[in-house]
Amino acid sequence: NKQVVLRDHVTGFPKESDMNIVETTITLNLPQASNDVLLKNLYISCDPYMRILMNKVDVFEGLPTYTPASPLTGFGVAKVVESGHPDYKKGDIVSSFTKWEEYSLVPSTQIFCKIEHIDVPLSYYTGILGMAGLTAYVGLFEFGTPKKGENVFVSAASGAVGQLVGQFAKLSGCYVVGSAGSKEKVDLLKNKLGFDEAFNYKEELDLNAALKRYFPEGIDIYFENVGGKTLDAVLLNLRVNARIPVCGMISQYNLIEPEGVTNLTNIIFKQVHMQGFLVPSYYHLYPKFLEYLLPHIREGKVVYVEDIAEGLENGPKALVGLYSGRNVGKQVIAIARE
Ligand code: NDP
Repeated sequence: NKQVVLRDHVTGFPKESDMNIVETTITLNLPQASNDVLLKNLYISCDPYMRILMNKVDVFEGLPTYTPASPLTGFGVAKVVESGHPDYKKGDIVSSFTKWEEYSLVPSTQIFCKIEHIDVPLSYYTGILGMAGLTAYVGLFEFGTPKKGENVFVSAASGAVGQLVGQFAKLSGCYVVGSAGSKEKVDLLKNKLGFDEAFNYKEELDLNAALKRYFPEGIDIYFENVGGKTLDAVLLNLRVNARIPVCGMISQYNLIEPEGVTNLTNIIFKQVHMQGFLVPSYYHLYPKFLEYLLPHIREGKVVYVEDIAEGLENGPKALVGLYSGRNVGKQVIAIARE
């Protein structure tokens, strides 16, 4: 049973060498009277929060940091091999919190749901139909509350969450601009994902001037994925009653000293609603979210760009790549296809 294990807690930017690939054995039989489920992992998700779990100190309630020499954990799509729980049977495909290994024995409570709709790619359940999709939906609709004609800015816009925020905002009749870190990503935003405008933030010496160029009348909703300098520039370009759903701040996760943000007083002057959220608190919205999104996917009104790495041995490289923008779209690792 091949696994990706963390060598030790991480300080600063993570490196591939912070993780090891190891071989272990696993018994493919469940102990009698167990409620556990034995999973064959098919796809696993690479997510920015995983870096935070590599720290020594816990920050998330109920989600402890990784234990050195143990496999990483994360979201995945898996096939049930054996089940001690009546809700799951051999052959079921499930969306689950699992481990970075070929086979995982998980308590049934870690299974998020049985996957019923399999006319879409199974890998989608790590992204557009998984945590990233629900995050975009909750952040935009619960906290951004978009109205027709409003101006929306999304950072890390071509990523797992950002590409959906932009498309949902377009479906709501908004003007949408995204920022991303390469020409390829900017082209994707404008030509495939339907953003009105997009720019490469790495090429803008003055982010405030760039935002003034795209939003001469100001921003109504800023979907925050990166923090730092981008947030500071956004704070100078907000309209009255602007909303900032604070989803993530990836530019800060690897810094030993977080960057300061200097323009916070504009939150008062512009009467801004700035709201942080964590998607596990909104899992109850998942059925409503599927009902909204599945028809859009089937009709081709929402599309999704994935970046699929093949094999667990490429997992460390894929995960580390999130922090330099190596991924183009949702980063997934394919372990097995069935
Ligand atoms: P992405 O697929 O967007 O991948 C991360 C991207 O972030 C990279 O591709 C890169 O794109 C960008 N990035 C990396 N470093 C920096 C930096 N220093 N400055 C600016 N951009 C950077 O990830 P997700 O869509 O999965 O996640 C986006 C955000 O949402 C993250 O902050 C994440 O933590 C957060 N999140 C929060 C959740 C919640 O419950 N609150 C749930 C899920 C995600 P580029 O090339 O454009 O720089």
